[in-house]
Amino acid sequence: MTTLKSLEDPVTELSGVGSQRAAALKTLGIQTIADLLTDFPFRYDDLTAKDLATVSEGEKITLKGTVANEPAVVRFGRKKSRLNFRLLIGHDVVMVTFFNQPWLSQQLTAGQETAVYGKWDAVRKSLSGMKLINADKGASFGAIYTVNKHIRQSTLAQLIKQAYDAYQDVIYPLLPPYLLQKYRLLDRKTMIHDLHFPKDPQAAKLARRTAVFEEFFLFELRLQMMRAKDHQAAGTEIDYDNEALKTFIKTLPFELTNAQKRVVNEICAAMKRPTHMNRLLQGDVGSGKTIVAAIVMYAAITAGYQAALMAPTEILAEQHAKNLAEVFADMPVNIVLLTGSTKAKARKTALAHIASGEVDLIVGTHALISDDVIYHQLGLAVIDEQHRFGVNQRQTLRRKGQYPDILAMTATPIPRTLQITAYGEMDVSIIDELPAGRKPITTRWLHSNQVEAAMTFIRQQLNHGQQAYVVTPLIEESEALDVKNAEAIYAHLSENFAPDYQVGLLHGRLKNEEKEAVMAAFKAHEYDVLVSTTVIEVGVDVANATVMLIFDADRFGLAQLHQLRGRVGRGEVASTCILIADPKTQDGIARMQVMTETTDGFILAQKDLELRGSGDLLGTKQSGVPDFKVGDPVAQLNILQIAQEEALALVEQPNWQLEPDNRELAGYEQHQLKQHSTLD
Ligand code: ADP
Ligand code: MG
Repeated sequence: MTTLKSLEDPVTELSGVGSQRAAALKTLGIQTIADLLTDFPFRYDDLTAKDLATVSEGEKITLKGTVANEPAVVRFGRKKSRLNFRLLIGHDVVMVTFFNQPWLSQQLTAGQETAVYGKWDAVRKSLSGMKLINADKGASFGAIYTVNKHIRQSTLAQLIKQAYDAYQDVIYPLLPPYLLQKYRLLDRKTMIHDLHFPKDPQAAKLARRTAVFEEFFLFELRLQMMRAKDHQAAGTEIDYDNEALKTFIKTLPFELTNAQKRVVNEICAAMKRPTHMNRLLQGDVGSGKTIVAAIVMYAAITAGYQAALMAPTEILAEQHAKNLAEVFADMPVNIVLLTGSTKAKARKTALAHIASGEVDLIVGTHALISDDVIYHQLGLAVIDEQHRFGVNQRQTLRRKGQYPDILAMTATPIPRTLQITAYGEMDVSIIDELPAGRKPITTRWLHSNQVEAAMTFIRQQLNHGQQAYVVTPLIEESEALDVKNAEAIYAHLSENFAPDYQVGLLHGRLKNEEKEAVMAAFKAHEYDVLVSTTVIEVGVDVANATVMLIFDADRFGLAQLHQLRGRVGRGEVASTCILIADPKTQDGIARMQVMTETTDGFILAQKDLELRGSGDLLGTKQSGVPDFKVGDPVAQLNILQIAQEEALALVEQPNWQLEPDNRELAGYEQHQLKQHSTLD
């Protein structure tokens, strides 16, 4: 009896894979034949002969040749060693050096054929060895896989070969044929073959290009499907009262910027459409997103709906509730605040009023999405500083009530890569203008031995009646240490500024009433200096504060530094941000430098992406960017963009479908081929 083979078969179908080896493979995320076949190599050892004169300085290469002399190990220091030998490659002789791998001498003897992967020193004509490679006789271009201590390179390569041989007939096409033609991509079987067993570098390159496109395309297809579904979902048609809205806008103490007016119009138009709104409002720190939120929430309220505003921290939620109470002082709007620390009794009343529709505007933290909060008629939900929330929390809010319209606000400017990946399913409105009269923020980077100078500067500002924030170091592992640090710095500064100036302290361990009291006191200028952990990172607004000093600034990511810096520069007086840091890494130095060079959040976000790579975007694991296996959404943005366009075009075709199980995208042959394009 024959059973049908499928790429979804477990790896135990292969000979030589028992439960132990299966467990080892699982540590690499490999459970099925498909996993194995798409475990693409991270590089190749190119053992073809090279013209060494053309290899550039510092390039990583693999050289194959004959070991010319018995390797010698020289030890120095306690644990350090150097292993040298000459490698004969045709007529060239290359000196190879391995540092701190003395055991390699046992694997090398004079006269032996070997290959070495390493870094080329063009001046000395020598190779700094990184890895010794067991050169397979005959093979001149071999795949190298990521492995770990549970499984060896050669074992994995052998299993992949076995899997390919046994399953090649059930590798079905995934991309529609018209895309393969249009972008000159390989069919899936060839792609998988050439990724693992390329005959030359060119074949591997072509295969990788296809794999990257495939990965991006499938990802985008899922996003675009979600988006299409959103648009179809029975959304709320918010028929707001335009006259009431105009009247309300006239009561504001300032004129809206043109950008604010434009996004208000965009959002109102989207709310009015019967389809569901899922929109991102992007605007740099201080661009005035809150008032935009207030206006569109009011619009929803004039249409008889409730509106909710969800913030990531209690301080921020409280600040919003207070501000909105002022903004709506003369309007018939009932506001309630709901956070994790709302007392049981108040909470009970609030829940009753939310359910009955007695309150129109609900402000809070993620408490807003807990199960027992039942809305009367939620029409619009606004998520402030949305990058601080996980994707799941966004989803939960969307499912509340009758699928309310969603406006997610973020101060973190979103580079194209992220727009396409993390937020690909959303529409975007952008506030690209700051309110007039803002003075630019000057940023200085000082070393820790210059703290006194910084203190002198702060005192000068205080003498002018300004206020200052002092942010204490971030100890990622421990909130307790954060607090300890903050307390130490607070004690020091209190003494330093006594008796002329008052210093306040804010940290995560304070009770909420305490936090609120400290913030209120700072806002009321009862404190001149506020020492704080990063709890003030987002949203807090005190226009009279013009100095932001950040200790150990190199511990923070660029996005976070930008957010912190955004706490100043909110008033009429020019502001300064002082970074205290002695960075030890290139990356740290680069971050400090770019902070002193620009206040443009967009440039910073792009830089952040480049410095961090796409692994940990914007310093938060919650940024929602998926882990791509082969594609790099930053470096290969152009391919990502094409994949998005094509996925969108496909989803917009009337009768398109994707069978999730057979995963074949058949039936698009009728699609007219457009002119040939290339991906790179
Ligand atoms: P963010 O976009 O960072 O959330 P906020 O909404 O906190 O910014 O606004 C920052 C400050 O700018 C607030 O004090 C707000 O009242 C003020 N503001 C907002 N819009 C304008 C405007 N059009 N003109 C003047 N000030 C404004
Ligand atoms: Mg804000």
